[in-house]
Amino acid sequence: MKNISVIGSGTMGNGIAHLFAQHHFEVSLVDLSPDQLHKGMATIGKNMDRQIAKGTLTEADKAASLNRISPYTSLADGVNKADLVVEAATEKIEIKLDLFRQLDLLTPANAVLASNTSSISITQIAAVTQRPSQVIGMHFMNPVPVMKLVEVIRGYATSEETTRQIMDLSSQLEKVPVEVQDYPGFVANRILMPMINEAIYTLYEGVAGVSEIDTVMKLGMAHPMGPLQLADFIGLDVCLSILRVLHEGFGNPKYAPCPLLINMVAAGFKGSKSGEGFYSYPAGTKDYPVSSRFSK
Ligand code: NAD
Repeated sequence: MKNISVIGSGTMGNGIAHLFAQHHFEVSLVDLSPDQLHKGMATIGKNMDRQIAKGTLTEADKAASLNRISPYTSLADGVNKADLVVEAATEKIEIKLDLFRQLDLLTPANAVLASNTSSISITQIAAVTQRPSQVIGMHFMNPVPVMKLVEVIRGYATSEETTRQIMDLSSQLEKVPVEVQDYPGFVANRILMPMINEAIYTLYEGVAGVSEIDTVMKLGMAHPMGPLQLADFIGLDVCLSILRVLHEGFGNPKYAPCPLLINMVAAGFKGSKSGEGFYSYPAGTKDYPVSSRFSK
């Protein structure tokens, strides 16, 4: 695999493009929105500057890596040479199904089509293509250049060969791939989201405040950050939609999203990206959250 097309240049897409370019792949970065594409390219440059400041990248490597990324707003132009497409567009089923229908028509017949989805069924995505054996989940974690895990999700029809290709490719990217089957939430979010939901219930029922809950999990369980702060970083809207997938997919009331989470999302409190969630982010930065309206 040499030519990689990344669809979506948001939080995850620009990180995925960054990672592939730094590992000497030719990358086409595609986004519908020229504005997002521009922001995505700027973010890659800024993140590479951080690597330079840390001494893990040279100026020359940065220039060469950026040179390997070509931005496109046209899907057809961005995917016609692809050996692999990694789709990282907005987490909405209708957007993914529409994209995969088009990708099936626009990419070379032997191309592998991967999705970075957090929760949408790979089997369902694969079923809208004529090549379900070549469709797979390649679930990177945020921030992509830093986090080691790639959850590799085998849809019902994904072939052994496609799985092997993506496992090997992930290792080539210096990540640790873990193969999992395609059931709601896969492994990462099936375990993480109920914990976050329970933390929100603990707050909702008045058992403890935001910083108390996060402190218990940080100091008591050695988590690098508390579940409420993590929920803010992931996006409360994203957490809610993943919980809904789990709830609907398993039909089990234990996954029912906490009414407080539903209310916060309806009111536009989406976490760090909206400036307010369980914590406030007054300077629009994730780095220094301050306790918000939930403080005692
Ligand atoms: P985001 O909102 O930051 O970016 C999505 C981008 O997709 C936007 O720039 C949007 O313009 C673009 N887009 C939408 N429809 C498109 C189309 N038809 N063609 C091309 N571009 C299109 O979202 P994100 O947080 O980067 O998430 C992307 C995917 O990664 C989702 O499936 C999400 O579940 C998954 N994911 C997110 C995280 C996370 O922490 N944010 C972690 C793991 C996986």
